[in-house]
Amino acid sequence: MWRACQHWLPTLLYIAKRGVASDGHCPRCHNHQESMVHALWECKRLANVRNMCLFAKDLQVAEGMHFLDFMMVCSKSLSLFDVEFLCVIMWRIWFCRNQLIHNLDGWEVADVFQWSISFLDKWRVACKGISAVPIRSAAMAPKWRPPLPGFWKFNSDAASCYKDRMIGLGVIYRDSVGRVKLAAAHNMVATFSPLVAEALAIRFGIQLTCDNGLVPFHFESDSLQAVELVCKGNFEDTVIGPVLAKISNLLKELPNYSISYVPRTENVVAHVLAKKALVVESDYRWFDCCPPCVVRTVQSDASF
Ligand SMILES: [Zn+2]
Repeated sequence: MWRACQHWLPTLLYIAKRGVASDGHCPRCHNHQESMVHALWECKRLANVRNMCLFAKDLQVAEGMHFLDFMMVCSKSLSLFDVEFLCVIMWRIWFCRNQLIHNLDGWEVADVFQWSISFLDKWRVACKGISAVPIRSAAMAPKWRPPLPGFWKFNSDAASCYKDRMIGLGVIYRDSVGRVKLAAAHNMVATFSPLVAEALAIRFGIQLTCDNGLVPFHFESDSLQAVELVCKGNFEDTVIGPVLAKISNLLKELPNYSISYVPRTENVVAHVLAKKALVVESDYRWFDCCPPCVVRTVQSDASF
């Protein structure tokens, strides 16, 4: 991104201006000069990718806009986490564009969004590991910890399937001895960034808390960014803003709760349920019993 902001990426317009034999036209659409903004975002052949980035649907791009100005607009109108996601998407778009230029296989617009989600997910997990969790074997990895007696603990997670344009949400409520009170797997036909999907999972879980009177509770998510935004009550005018506002309104009705981030190893059951939600028809709930797909993990979590 730094090279792009300096206009140092060799778009065809860039190299034409420097005397290389090229008409400077975009190699994808062939009817527009390949400026930096065009190459990484504006080309009509990237419409599908842009449409999937709902958080960026209101971005205004002026004719002939400098890429650095475009990024400034993004930084003002999007959350930090959405800008981060957008940068990964544009990085992948540039990779795919180069595959096309060099006649290599791999130019699949449809894969850009899903690849970016997957990359960012792994990167964030890796960063968490570097900054907070020392390297340890799987056997030593921290696992779910029970709440205090008299409290419920609920864990939430989200999963995405680009191909079906679907988001899976998984939540589970357990007591201080690890017994399952309520579990749910719910899906939505939608395409959101991983951060918005995580926030939707939190909202789904808190809504269930309200509906079933599961208080007091302690809530855990493995999305550090989502937990931080919920705690800050940051309602920027972006796609995630209304989700956070709803969470805030729900929490006002709840007298006694706490929220924290946990590493993935402490959130495995919710993760499995979120994945399960992608393959069920719509909405599954389990009351006072354990979903079959997580029996072993729940038993393992309860062996503290
Ligand atoms: Zn183009």
